[in-house]
Amino acid sequence: MSNTKVFILDGGSLVIDGFHVYWNKGPGGEVRFPVYSVLIDHADGLYLFDSGFDYDHVMAVLPFEKPQQTREQTLLGAIEKAGYRAEDINYVINSHYHFDHCGGNKHLKEACTVCHANEFGQCKCPQPFEVLGYSDMTFHPDMQREKLRREGKEIPVSPDSDIWTPKVELLTGNQEIAKGMHLIETPGHTAGHYSLLIELANRRPMLFTADACYTRKGFDEELIPSFHLDPVKAVQSVRRLKDVALKTNAEVFVSHDLEQFGQYKTAPAYYE
Ligand SMILES: [Zn+2]
Repeated sequence: MSNTKVFILDGGSLVIDGFHVYWNKGPGGEVRFPVYSVLIDHADGLYLFDSGFDYDHVMAVLPFEKPQQTREQTLLGAIEKAGYRAEDINYVINSHYHFDHCGGNKHLKEACTVCHANEFGQCKCPQPFEVLGYSDMTFHPDMQREKLRREGKEIPVSPDSDIWTPKVELLTGNQEIAKGMHLIETPGHTAGHYSLLIELANRRPMLFTADACYTRKGFDEELIPSFHLDPVKAVQSVRRLKDVALKTNAEVFVSHDLEQFGQYKTAPAYYE
């Protein structure tokens, strides 16, 4: 049996204001931040944690986030660069369903979709301040059509998406989904957010916070982004992750920190 391998897939970058990165703190001004997915080659199967943003979606709905994404940074390009094929992915786990974490799901038609049950419920009827976050519902064509119907928009005829209904597995609580792969409940940013801890044979465990912590400074100083459903739960989730990192001696990988990202090994290089 071969060791678990972890690939970080560079998915391009977006821009938000500094006051969104650090809620009620700032400083303001444009902050460009990376978006990435994590490909895990495990003895039980091929897993993807998050799937990045779709360039066309961002240009159509949130062009003010100024997306940058080369062909190699699209999900399909990045999977290929790591030496794999999209159709070989068995499970796509979404930390949550904001558009910059699920934009590539639609390319993974063979994969079972795994997420927190609360997240699946919330993204169907988001709060008004969550609507842009949950603007890309293409990970589930039936839900996408329902959303367009609600908004009174035209429903595009797409034979491709019409024949695809993803298999979905909804979870609650902390879960070891495969040996050494632990989903940790970290709500607050959204209703049902999961972070991921991966134990590896030859190095410290890797703790992927996803959007429970955008940046290293946010992790250290317990500063949450302005995009959240419940700020108190969001701060508690940062503390939970600090506790996990301490107890497991894990290396922390935050989601949207350009400086930190520069220090990560990206595919085709990997951790094992
Ligand atoms: Zn995000």
